[in-house]
Amino acid sequence: MTENDYSPIAALNQYAYCPHRCWRMFCMGGFVDNQYTIEGTSLHDRVHTTGEGQREDTWQVRAVWLKSERYRLIGKSDLIEESDGQWFPVEYKRGHRGEFDNDKLQVCAQALCIEEMTGQSVTLGYIYYAQSHQRQPVEITPELRQQAIATIEAVHHILTTGEMPPAVYSPRCKGCSLYSQCLPKAADKVARYREVD
Ligand code: SF4
Repeated sequence: MTENDYSPIAALNQYAYCPHRCWRMFCMGGFVDNQYTIEGTSLHDRVHTTGEGQREDTWQVRAVWLKSERYRLIGKSDLIEESDGQWFPVEYKRGHRGEFDNDKLQVCAQALCIEEMTGQSVTLGYIYYAQSHQRQPVEITPELRQQAIATIEAVHHILTTGEMPPAVYSPRCKGCSLYSQCLPKAADKVARYREVD
């Protein structure tokens, strides 16, 4: 990848979950499925059928490609809605409401792309949780924008340099499909031995 290439929006979510996982997936092509990823892929396969239509006062468009020249970002949205001239990105997730903050970054990155593509500001997006059939509103606040922009820069750095962030064991490792490739506890030990040396 070069400076001029685009980072996938989905990589932001992975980076916020774990920078090392982001590196494994997007620099090494190391993707392994587990129950959670299979459920997530199956959900997105259903959602990523192109189409559009009216639902009450809201215009809905599915599976739209989003792009930002400014932030060098590209990705496919699950659903974009338009109501009263306002645009709202909607990201579908398999888990439960409020489980992970990293999903908000993904919605914010989509909002940044929509703003650049339409010239209109986006102040609100949603995460739709398939298991609970609930929508969580995501306010596109200045703080979330800053967080998203910092994450975009960090992801772009990893993808352009290939530099590997360390594998750091955390509670999230238990649900990570790359656990058996990464072996974070062993990686932690090796890093500590190196520090002692
Ligand atoms: S096992 Fe843990 S450290 Fe390794 S990639 Fe997954 S979340 Fe990151």
